[in-house]
Amino acid sequence: MTQHTQDDLWRDFPKTATEFEARFATEADCRAYWIEARWGGKPACARCHSTRVWTIREGTTFECADCGHQTSLTSGTLLEKTRKPFKVWFRAVFEISTRRTGISAKDLQRIMGFGSYKTAWSWLHKLRAAMVRSDSEPLGPFVEMDEALVGGQGGPHKELVLVAAEAGGRVRLAHADTNDEATLERFADGQVAADAHVVTDGLASYNEESLGERPHEAIVQSKAQRREKDALQTCHWAISLLKRWLLGTHAGAVSPKHLQAYLDEFAFRHNRRKTKGVGRIAARVIEQLVVRAPLTIRTLIDDTRPCRRFASGQRAVA
Ligand SMILES: [Zn+2]
Repeated sequence: MTQHTQDDLWRDFPKTATEFEARFATEADCRAYWIEARWGGKPACARCHSTRVWTIREGTTFECADCGHQTSLTSGTLLEKTRKPFKVWFRAVFEISTRRTGISAKDLQRIMGFGSYKTAWSWLHKLRAAMVRSDSEPLGPFVEMDEALVGGQGGPHKELVLVAAEAGGRVRLAHADTNDEATLERFADGQVAADAHVVTDGLASYNEESLGERPHEAIVQSKAQRREKDALQTCHWAISLLKRWLLGTHAGAVSPKHLQAYLDEFAFRHNRRKTKGVGRIAARVIEQLVVRAPLTIRTLIDDTRPCRRFASGQRAVA
């Protein structure tokens, strides 16, 4: 049996709208791709893992020949309980992946023709959740660390964002309460390789306490020196793109409660800016829709759910 690897699925993914329309013309086309991404083409029972299964409910579910358990194509994934066909989801994935700057819920509502803003909003949050990977390699070997204040449109309040960036490479962002040593330590431990060489602007809380054994270079620069050769160029560049993106695509309307999800989306796109073709991004998003556990609209909007702000040891990943 030849099994497709994730790389095959990536390489295979349509790169233009025309290719996309042809490849995913029917619900069956999308389902076949989903089955390939989820089970390597051979669906298995969620209870006993038997692959002796047959299709029921118009192809949306498998029934196990051995134990009788029914496994929906979407159960246990981010698309669990969706009432919309894969074709519509794939379309949304393609739209969000092909636009370099991403889209707002309003854009998605218009493009997909959704009746309600709420639907578009919850779709976008699921897609955004699919843009976070949990197995990311820590940054290294040369890493810049900095902080930024974002938001505060129409008010004085700004939100603190911790930034770590490989010189000329990937970036990680975390919404934080403070930039004290303990918080910076958690951020560095989660994102920055233990032997990475770290450059900062000399803020006092970057020290042995927060950075541990990592070699640390604190470079205090004047504005003129920064114009000449910015020691934190990658961080500063990412921060200015981030601010522009929050103000542009999202019209500055990101609430603090959801800021981390937006930061994750930004980092996902930013870190794939050199990836050839949007196909790879779209394929990656679908792969993550498959492997990530369900989010319900209730968990998305529940106000009692703690804010994802970086303060209690969670890892921000992208
Ligand atoms: Zn079974």
